[in-house]
Amino acid sequence: MSLVLGIAVDVPLRRLFDYRPPPGVDPATLQPGVRLWVPFGRRRVTGVLVETRLTSTLPDSKLRPAIAVIDDTPVIEQSLLELLRWAADYYRHPPGEVIAAALPAPLRIGTAALETEERWTLSAAARTGELPPLSPRAHRLREMVAALETRDAADEATLAALSPRWRDHVRELEQRGWVLRLREAVAPASPRPPLLGDGPQPTPEQQRAIEAISAAAGQNAPFLLHGVTGSGKTEVYLRAIAEVVRREQQALVLVPEISLTPQLVARFAARFDAPLAVLHSSLTDQERLRAWRAARSGDAPVIIGTRSAIFAPLARPGLIVVDEEHDPSYKQQEGFRYSARDLALARAQRLAVPVVLGSATPSLESLERVQAGRATLLELPARTAGAKPPAIHLIDLRKHAATQGIATPTVLAIQRHLGAGGQVLLYLNRRGYAPTLFCPACGWAAPCPRCDARLTVHQRERRLHCHHCGSEQAIPESCPTCFEPVKPVGQGTERIEETLAKLFPDVPLERIDRDAVRRKGALEAALDRVTSGAVRLLVGTQMLTKGHHFPDVSLVVVLNADQGLFGTDFRASERLAQTIVQVAGRAGRAERPGEVLIQTEYPEHPLLTQLIAGGYDAFAKAALEERKAARWPPFARIAVLRAEASRREIPTEFLDRARELAEALAGREVEVLGPATAPMERRAGLYRAQLLLHAPGHSPLQRLLARWLPAVEELPEARKVRWSLDVDPLELF
Ligand SMILES: [Zn+2]
Ligand SMILES: [Zn+2]
Repeated sequence: MSLVLGIAVDVPLRRLFDYRPPPGVDPATLQPGVRLWVPFGRRRVTGVLVETRLTSTLPDSKLRPAIAVIDDTPVIEQSLLELLRWAADYYRHPPGEVIAAALPAPLRIGTAALETEERWTLSAAARTGELPPLSPRAHRLREMVAALETRDAADEATLAALSPRWRDHVRELEQRGWVLRLREAVAPASPRPPLLGDGPQPTPEQQRAIEAISAAAGQNAPFLLHGVTGSGKTEVYLRAIAEVVRREQQALVLVPEISLTPQLVARFAARFDAPLAVLHSSLTDQERLRAWRAARSGDAPVIIGTRSAIFAPLARPGLIVVDEEHDPSYKQQEGFRYSARDLALARAQRLAVPVVLGSATPSLESLERVQAGRATLLELPARTAGAKPPAIHLIDLRKHAATQGIATPTVLAIQRHLGAGGQVLLYLNRRGYAPTLFCPACGWAAPCPRCDARLTVHQRERRLHCHHCGSEQAIPESCPTCFEPVKPVGQGTERIEETLAKLFPDVPLERIDRDAVRRKGALEAALDRVTSGAVRLLVGTQMLTKGHHFPDVSLVVVLNADQGLFGTDFRASERLAQTIVQVAGRAGRAERPGEVLIQTEYPEHPLLTQLIAGGYDAFAKAALEERKAARWPPFARIAVLRAEASRREIPTEFLDRARELAEALAGREVEVLGPATAPMERRAGLYRAQLLLHAPGHSPLQRLLARWLPAVEELPEARKVRWSLDVDPLELF
């Protein structure tokens, strides 16, 4: 009897694949987490060993042997492999794709996990003179042979010094049997204790938080670090990490994509005189592999990265930090739809290390976790340096005249703050010039040909863009229906910039949004102009609200709060409250008291009145009560089955069948809602609909999904649509 290997292969199938061990390999010596070459159809691919079993569901004649073992030691250590298996189950995603997500691309194609060094040596035949002599005219080849004769082996640097075309020459010598190539693993540099830089003296609140985190070393202890913007959360992270590093352990720090700026990395680098492993989406494969190796070997005591860094290997784990834990970018919105924040909690539990979720505007999930006693709240109430919290005022757009979206009292306030030497930040979450190109004569509004949406006017480029599918076209001279003149209606950041330039012609102005800072380095340059004080007026989108420090901004204007007030999504109000509080937090960070103006047509809306009277805490308390009463997450669990197709009726047909299957299996515990078409039904030429599963808790939902999804996959209708399952979705469409 021989053991069967259960191997994860990077294909979109929800199962492992069974193989016999490679010829001559004792399966008892194989540890889960090592890679193997396996035959897959007609291809040869890499797979990761997940488990060894006594039996297979396949008949013995169908079992093929794996080809060869790639690694001596696992590329994915035991507890990470367990986390990935759990995540594949929880999110109902193919295990091979989940495991592949944890590996840098070169490792998925068989590259050595350890760094190797190539060296070359003369072959035995060359040394004993058994080979036909080289031509006297082959000077370069003879030089190389001469260099190799004097040493056991030569490295790349030695050979490169001989000739710029040394690789060609070496290859030729290899082909003729003169030279052999050796690959040797480079031993990781033994980790030296990093030097720790000094930081500012912590406040008593910071000190309490640091001590609580450090006291939990070696235990699974989730913390919610709730501190208003400017309260010094980063200093708490840095000091808690310093403790971890002193114990010769590693800290993994997750940050939202947009806040992983060179400034933040520099701040960490200034405190830890040791290599940082930085992981984010714009690295090359080789850069990513290098950071992965530094994390795995333990060379890097601090690993800092965005969402997928949650899968970084850790040699000596000590602490996990998730900064701005409420940020939606922690949830992957396609393929393997995981939440890095939630996986951080699960990983910390398996590793028995503390995990710190930090935010000025915690997610309702994390606040509920504290209420239920599953996390410890650490509060940083005061702003450092004695600064006062900003005063927030509403500007009623129904009562005041406005110039292109800027109300008169707002204009006066901008004048006052500029006059007093302050900087002013205006926030509008809509880029472009205007959201609509409109014909006043017949009512035509430029539509996207592929979406149920209007095209956005980009005046500077003279183009219309769809912000949903990316299609674009030239701005028409006149209405295509009645040939009357057309005009842009509404405001985007580009138009606000134009209006401000007219209102304040002598004031230096900067716009920060995805269009304005497209070039590499443009964002950093723009932020430098703001922090140096060269720029006094600043207009921008969401990009401005995250992690950037603007110490001299004394007035923040939210130009249009109403976009989020009546959203259809159950999280719309949470998002809006977080955005307003995060934007407001940019004001008055130093000694200067800040002022915040929120323009709205609904000044009596409870969300706004709660925020003004009691801040984010009052809003969150009320919002949690509402969620509880309505039985929405975090007081329930939901999953969404989405489908899209190029004909309108097809997604609904598929979801109707899926609904019948679910109802047959669900019993009374899980409610099946829908199918419902998306509010914007057609996007990029595809019609979209979804089915929602609503359960009182995670177990009944998981029990249903485990039985339901295999049946859904088998539906004949499933082949006519693009479908996906999203467990714990952040957005409903
Ligand atoms: Zn018209
Ligand atoms: Zn479109």
